Amino acid sequence: MSNNPLKQYFRTPSLYFKLPSGGKHYGAEVVEVPENDELAVYPMTNLDEIAIRTPDALFNGDAVVRVIKNCVPAIKNPWELNNIDVEAVIIAIRAASIEGDYEMESDCPSCKEDGKYGINLTALLMEKKDIDYSKRLTVGSLEIKFRPLTYAEINRNSIKQFEVQRIIATLDSVEGEEQKKKMLEDGINKMNDLTNDIVTQCIDYIKTPETMVNDKQFIKEFLVNCDSKSLKAIREYSAQLREQNDTKPISIKCVNCGHDYKQPLQLNFTDFFA
Ligand SMILES: [Zn+2]
Repeated sequence: MSNNPLKQYFRTPSLYFKLPSGGKHYGAEVVEVPENDELAVYPMTNLDEIAIRTPDALFNGDAVVRVIKNCVPAIKNPWELNNIDVEAVIIAIRAASIEGDYEMESDCPSCKEDGKYGINLTALLMEKKDIDYSKRLTVGSLEIKFRPLTYAEINRNSIKQFEVQRIIATLDSVEGEEQKKKMLEDGINKMNDLTNDIVTQCIDYIKTPETMVNDKQFIKEFLVNCDSKSLKAIREYSAQLREQNDTKPISIKCVNCGHDYKQPLQLNFTDFFA
């Protein structure tokens, strides 16, 4: 209600940040980028906190999308953001919602004792850089151009991945060797097909000496029918591009024994917000 005298006491933005991509290539229906490129980030409400603790909602991505819209109102359609920007947004929302450092628990690999460590999320956010996708991979006489995936694509892929993993996980309880063998084969085929689907999504286009192909069905057909050496090169290049977005492992000095080690930091909502 606009006439609520308490309105001035509602939560206010506690952080401003720039998307790693700058956000300019999205349409205004995806992000309304302000003049100075800085997006306002509001701390999470109680409802947001509840939403991200609901495993089902988290799993299908709806909760994440709702929380992003609620905390970063300039973002109109989080599904269309690329994965690099989404990770930065998630860190920004977390940083805006806590006082001081983010507390992470870690088990020391040397003394096995558990310790608590503070992570400066604002510093982490600054480290998030856009990834250059303009370089093309040359395979024989083909030039392959890649693109980052959107949050919608990543979400769909992880649901499919989970389904295949679930089939494989139930194998032990299946009676009969023949049946088990068939299910395992089926699972491996599905996983392989999914990997090809993901790599197809990651390919923007393939340039041949004659023409430029961006039809996804043509590209997938090529992946299935090219020699395995080419497929391996394409998969590896695609994975390398994605890995550039991974947050560097955190350096930890064990509070119990002083051992120095590195701990990877997962920054998707499921691990980061639980
Ligand atoms: Zn230790």
